[in-house]
Amino acid sequence: MPHPRVLVVTSCTGEKCAKPENQLTLADFKDPEQLQRREAELAEFVCAAGKMYTGMQHLRLMEGVQLLRQSLGQDAVDVAILSAGYGLVEENRAIAPYEVTFNGMKGYEVDSWAQHLNVHEALEQAVQGYDLIFLLLGDNYLRAIKLPVETKPNQTIIALTSQGSAKLVKGLSAKTFVLPLTNQDAQKYSYGLVGLKGFLFKRFAETASKDSDWLPKVYQTPELFTETLVQAIAQLELALPEVVAQPKPAKASKAKTAKTLEVEDEDVEDSEFLPIPEVPAAANLHLGMQYFIPEWDDHVDPGYDFLNNRLTPGRDPYADEVYAHQIYPTPNYDGILVSKVVVDSSKKKRARVEIVGIHNFIRFPGKVMGDCGAFGYIKEDVPPYNTTEILDYYQNLGFDFGVSIDHLIVGPFAQPGIRERRYELTKRNAQDFLKKHQMGGYTFTPIGVAQGWSPETYAEAVKDNISMGYDYIALGGLARATSKEIISILAEIRPHLTDKTRLHLFGVARINAIPVFRHLGVTSFDSASPLRRAWLGSGANYHTLTSKMYTAARIPPVDSHGVRIKRLLEAGVSDQDTLRGMEQSALKALREFDAGTLGLEATLEALLTYDELLELPRDGKVDPIDQAKRRVKHERMYRDLLQDKPWKNCNCVICEEIGVEVIIFRGNDRNRRRGFHNTYVFYKRFQELLRQLKDPLTNGSQPSTDNLAPLVAPDGVV
Ligand SMILES: [Zn+2]
Repeated sequence: MPHPRVLVVTSCTGEKCAKPENQLTLADFKDPEQLQRREAELAEFVCAAGKMYTGMQHLRLMEGVQLLRQSLGQDAVDVAILSAGYGLVEENRAIAPYEVTFNGMKGYEVDSWAQHLNVHEALEQAVQGYDLIFLLLGDNYLRAIKLPVETKPNQTIIALTSQGSAKLVKGLSAKTFVLPLTNQDAQKYSYGLVGLKGFLFKRFAETASKDSDWLPKVYQTPELFTETLVQAIAQLELALPEVVAQPKPAKASKAKTAKTLEVEDEDVEDSEFLPIPEVPAAANLHLGMQYFIPEWDDHVDPGYDFLNNRLTPGRDPYADEVYAHQIYPTPNYDGILVSKVVVDSSKKKRARVEIVGIHNFIRFPGKVMGDCGAFGYIKEDVPPYNTTEILDYYQNLGFDFGVSIDHLIVGPFAQPGIRERRYELTKRNAQDFLKKHQMGGYTFTPIGVAQGWSPETYAEAVKDNISMGYDYIALGGLARATSKEIISILAEIRPHLTDKTRLHLFGVARINAIPVFRHLGVTSFDSASPLRRAWLGSGANYHTLTSKMYTAARIPPVDSHGVRIKRLLEAGVSDQDTLRGMEQSALKALREFDAGTLGLEATLEALLTYDELLELPRDGKVDPIDQAKRRVKHERMYRDLLQDKPWKNCNCVICEEIGVEVIIFRGNDRNRRRGFHNTYVFYKRFQELLRQLKDPLTNGSQPSTDNLAPLVAPDGVV
């Protein structure tokens, strides 16, 4: 299914962005005419409900909502706020500041005021059409909604409540999970109980935006939400900030960059090249094509002890670790894209980059492109940066390319009225950027951004950028567009390109579209998709030059307090010693298989014996049907993996050095190395394609994909 649609229902908070003396009171809300008059008096303080509240719960919650929207799309999640003044309002409803709360009302007062505001009916109406509903309500607010409301068995509700109010969540047809929070939980985070709910939702959103399987999983098995709590505690208990900042594949919980957000939709590689239209090649064809990889702390421990699963003792997670380009004899990309949000992800990091410069920081002598990460401020009316500040930032940190400040025109921001403003703003910024770049004697290469909402507007923007004097232009907002849409935009742009114009495509790497993109004038693109697929999704974790993809064998560690193992133990699926025995047998079997001393069937059995038990329990019990399904699916994927032994056919330094460890799904040091290998494969295929494309073109014939080697090998599964 597509991502479950999410609704978050939250309480209004006392802290608001404006607190005028004459704010609305309960009496105002009781009289509609008076309310209207009083709202007019407060006109200057009126704002969208989503922006009105400044309490902890609300701020953290909205940060989480923002993350989900960035990674899954603007309409992935909606917010409804239970206001004690206005009743249940949606996020965009304009409201005036008021001084009314359900807290402190007596039980019967809550009931009668909530009835007056039609809270119960409004909620019943609001939840329709949503798959996954979060209730983040304080005690009296929970009382005000008067559960149950009508829901369906295919809906899922997760309620974060105090222990005392957990009993109010009852009688729902939807699959329901209540997570009662204690004051102890709250104190752990120095949040009040109220703030904790928003904090946990944000944590959840961080994981969901990193791992595209997470949201559907929690929708299916809402109990999994507790992992968020457990992870948050685990993170808190890790004293070292570096360790917290260390990304953990698949279960990481930290903010994402725009770039990493963009990769998820381009996952499916089609089995055939997209045709090249019969138009002349772009004038810039001779400039070739380059691949940039977006960077977010993608490094590993060079001394990791695979046999004993141990990190180098006492290592510094930044200074002692290595990037992919430090492992491979030559980099598997032509350049690296670093977003400002990544540099600013911690004060410590920003300070380090400022001292040593961006090249030294990522230890990469090649080209480094910088951008602002427009997804990070997509909801703001205007970007939170000014041109001079950004010019200085690129220059001082030593970027080779710097991208002008743009504003995305996607989703709800592509509506008439908004899109024109953003279009003009992006254009003005590009103009300003280039002018100040020239006057200020900056030495990096400026890149002007073109945003648009149609082939014509994109083409117009590119034309404008060229006449301003840019010879490097980047197209934004297309990471989620289909290849067909991108092709029609490029076709419109192509005639305007000069033989000097370079054209970058943000967030798009589709191997089957490379010939047509190149023909139509794209000279560079970026994507982290090959890297991230090593740990996202289940069927395509290990890539090969034939384009066939394999799963990685899941052998999670029993002793590192993983949440899955913990839940299995709690549900009594097995005991720790037995699981540890199975884990060790699986590792041993796979290594012996690799060495040729154990047969395929015995190896498969060892893997599946452990794997089968990894099916998560529901309501404390493992569903035997789910377990059987898992076994069938994994048996097929693992058998394929063992039959083909793809790790033995790869000549990259990682596969040569760590061998079978690369296909074990387990921890950063294996998973990220597998991602490095995938990037190596992607880059090799990309370069081979470029080589093949060159030949027919030099013959002067109409370029076509007919002359290319097939994208998929005969037995390839894409
Ligand atoms: Zn390899």
